[in-house]
Amino acid sequence: MGQRIGIVGGGIVGVALARALAARGDDVTLLEKEARLAQHQTGHNSGVVHAGLYYAPDSLKATLCAAGRVRIREFCAEKGLPFREVGKLVVAVDDSEIPALNEIERRSRINGVPDLARIDDPARLHEIEPHAAGVAAVHSPHTAVTDYSTITEAMAQDVRAAGGRILLGHDVTGMSHENGRVRVHTPAWDDVFDRVIVCAGLHSDVVAGLVGGEASPRILPFRGEYWELAPQRTHLVRGMIYPVPDPRFPFLGVHFTRGVYDTVHVGPNAVPALAREGYSWRRWSAKDTWESLRWPGAWPLAKQHWRMGVDEISASLIKRRWYRKARRFIPELRMSDLTRKTAAGVRAQAWGRDGSLLDDFAVDRVGPVILLRNAPSPAATSSMAIADHVIAHHL
Ligand SMILES: Cc1cc2nc3c(=O)[nH]c(=O)nc-3n(C[C@H](O)[C@H](O)[C@H](O)COP(=O)(O)OP(=O)(O)OC[C@H]3O[C@@H](n4cnc5c(N)ncnc54)[C@H](O)[C@@H]3O)c2cc1C
Repeated sequence: MGQRIGIVGGGIVGVALARALAARGDDVTLLEKEARLAQHQTGHNSGVVHAGLYYAPDSLKATLCAAGRVRIREFCAEKGLPFREVGKLVVAVDDSEIPALNEIERRSRINGVPDLARIDDPARLHEIEPHAAGVAAVHSPHTAVTDYSTITEAMAQDVRAAGGRILLGHDVTGMSHENGRVRVHTPAWDDVFDRVIVCAGLHSDVVAGLVGGEASPRILPFRGEYWELAPQRTHLVRGMIYPVPDPRFPFLGVHFTRGVYDTVHVGPNAVPALAREGYSWRRWSAKDTWESLRWPGAWPLAKQHWRMGVDEISASLIKRRWYRKARRFIPELRMSDLTRKTAAGVRAQAWGRDGSLLDDFAVDRVGPVILLRNAPSPAATSSMAIADHVIAHHL
């Protein structure tokens, strides 16, 4: 038997790590505070298996997304899980967006996005997405959709089959060093491990604090909301239609995605959540909001991005504003096509003291405890490659 390893967090990253460690013979125990796995980011996302278009060349996001996409595709094929390469079109709606589109094309080529095509002919654009409007685009035919909750459950079955334990309803509230090892506490349970790996998503800074980790980066929760397209109008979207993202911001912009179960959703936007698990405007935590406001990076961030913040919040509250943004990409879209808001997700975005938003995946270490400090999109795509990376470079 290898080492005794504890993992905090039963999202896709924690479970992928547990699976890889159990497979190599370590004695693995995964602790998840909820009654089921994948209840937070992993179960509330767009379901896109990214092909690596946007990420800074040589970043962890670029390399681990490319490797992770292939691993997810193979895993789905092996287990018979839903996976469809519906393809993604990133569309420049007018000439002002061409320089940013060129940059995406440049990064995509360096990152080795397979079979990427540049489209400057509207007729070709319409062959791919007949209802989309734009002056130019890049097309990634292997960008896919899947169901990350189902994948997480299938990985968890492998963990159990290899002798690992998954303890649900175990909220980690303390950790203490003990002769070079770590004792992990929940209110009703404790145990000691050679190594602990923290993959706690929206709570990764809080759990880091339990073991004396740096306060920075802090997690800034950003909610992403979705509207669903009426079933009789889903023919407007064949695969995925994305805007050219604003390079100053780490989110991709509201897009149209045909999901793996054939519903089409429009989103996610990015609005500050008023609680770490603030899935709607009604879910508010005075503690989380106060802690965000008194973080030194709050005011530099607000100063830099307030215009975009106002725009996103107003589109969240006023349907017509959301509709106007979406219609730029599909002129035939009617406001009544947006039928209902579906389950939102909250992104765990790491945020420095100086107000900067961390772009890349980030791993830190305090003695025998390894801390995933930033694992936003495309961490679901990259999950199995992140697991290999952590084991190879940090364990
Ligand atoms: C709106 C949205 C859209 C996205 N779209 C995509 C996409 O299309 N493609 C993609 O690749 N990525 C996407 N992402 C990002 C992706 O979902 C995340 O990067 C990924 O799920 C992160 O997985 P995780 O395991 O790190 O975190 P999580 O899934 O959040 O899991 C963390 C777990 O830790 C548990 N936990 C926290 N604290 C404790 C504690 N003290 N004790 C025990 N357990 C604890 C939580 O309950 C949770 O289950 C999206 C995210 C959002 C929010």
